[in-house]
Amino acid sequence: MQHNLCVYNTLSRTKQPFRPLHEGRVGMYVCGPTVYGDAHLGHARPAITFDILFRYLSHLGYKVRYVRNITDVGHLEHDADEGEDKIAKKARLEQLEPMEVVQHYLNRYHHDMEALNVLPPSIEPHASGHIIEQIEYIKRIIDAGYAYVSEGSVYFDVEKYNHDHQYGKLSGRNIDDLYSSTRNLDGQSEKRNPLDFALWKKAAPEHIMHWPSPWSEGFPGWHLECSTMGTKYLGETFDIHGGGMDLMFPHHECEIAQSVAAQGHEAVRYWMHNNMITINGKKMGKSYNNFITLEQFFNGTHPKLEQPFAPMVIRFFILQAQYRSTVDFSNDALRASEKALEKMTDIYRRLENLKPADQSSLQLPDFAAQAYEAMDDDLNTPMVIATLFEAGKIINQASDGAASLAEEDIATLRRLFDTFLIDILGIRIEAKGADKGTAAYEGAVDLLMDIRKNAKDAKDWTTSDLIRDRLANLGFDVKDTKNGVEWKLL
Ligand code: ZN
Repeated sequence: MQHNLCVYNTLSRTKQPFRPLHEGRVGMYVCGPTVYGDAHLGHARPAITFDILFRYLSHLGYKVRYVRNITDVGHLEHDADEGEDKIAKKARLEQLEPMEVVQHYLNRYHHDMEALNVLPPSIEPHASGHIIEQIEYIKRIIDAGYAYVSEGSVYFDVEKYNHDHQYGKLSGRNIDDLYSSTRNLDGQSEKRNPLDFALWKKAAPEHIMHWPSPWSEGFPGWHLECSTMGTKYLGETFDIHGGGMDLMFPHHECEIAQSVAAQGHEAVRYWMHNNMITINGKKMGKSYNNFITLEQFFNGTHPKLEQPFAPMVIRFFILQAQYRSTVDFSNDALRASEKALEKMTDIYRRLENLKPADQSSLQLPDFAAQAYEAMDDDLNTPMVIATLFEAGKIINQASDGAASLAEEDIATLRRLFDTFLIDILGIRIEAKGADKGTAAYEGAVDLLMDIRKNAKDAKDWTTSDLIRDRLANLGFDVKDTKNGVEWKLL
């Protein structure tokens, strides 16, 4: 089958056919988490968006090297180069070894990603494990004349870079506007210019995370780690760099400047950015008291939540919007997604149990072609979901006896759902009642269904009614269909 995946390139501001640099292989870098706190919704969207891209490219047959970094040093507060490293601060406050803080939150992050069915990347490099490479990268920028040393720190010379190249091309900003929105130097700064950013920062005596360098005992600037690790694992030019829209400026803008300064050319061919998530129409932030962690969603403990929401509901909700559109979380919207996912799960289970007829009573539309077309159109996951629901109508008709499907049509539909719902959208269908019990419980209910069937066959209505009524009292919904008995716990 011919595919023509098109993706929106933030740099060119157009949808472009995706053509990898090396035939059959794709290099992809996504900015990962800063591990100084629990993962929240802001982490879920990029993780899921680029998981979909990773899954789809792999499905199309590409060998994908997916690099997602762990920021465990040098992410400074408020984007000012004067702040204390967040991990060091947390470690100081909690009297822990900084790497203990990193490991603690990294374990929790992995746990949350597992719950959301986000596949692990091919390489997950830590910034702290690449200090030598970052120092080498800084040397290249200094040698090229785009960085200067000041009081043991090294700064990128934005003014000079902008003179020779163009600073701000990704986010569409120009340097004059940036000046007017940047506060003036107070005369105390080591920087020549307020827009200059740190490549290396000399550590203050109380700073606990620092490494030796030619310039001082210190630590690297945040923007540097992605340029360095992207180049190390994917080469001086690679296919895709992704992240949330909030990283476009200054983080990705600075990455472009660093690559051009060090290498003489840009590193990235396709820049992709997911849009942001709001909560009840408001930006997420501590000041709004709407900073909800993923774990709080899963167990419903945040005061803004009226109930817990399962990880698959969060995933489905995010996929119901195209990644470049905004998403607003509310209890109502999540409940609607929960219902929709339940409907989809029912369709999947009914499809599993469909019994083939000798011939089909209808002609199946080419759902797979529609779903591929949607994915090829810049990962239009809501269209894929709509297509699956369309197919679901036919499955429900067949299951209710209002239509019949021959064996090959049932196989086609199963392939459709296994490919798109399970493999590409990454929806995990839980065993019936998995959250309320175990496989043994499921087997026990199935056993009751068998006993009830035997009773009915023997016209022992007392026993069959007893089983039905008692199960109904316990909250089970039991339905007799053409294909046998269906049950679920309501
Ligand atoms: Zn990054």
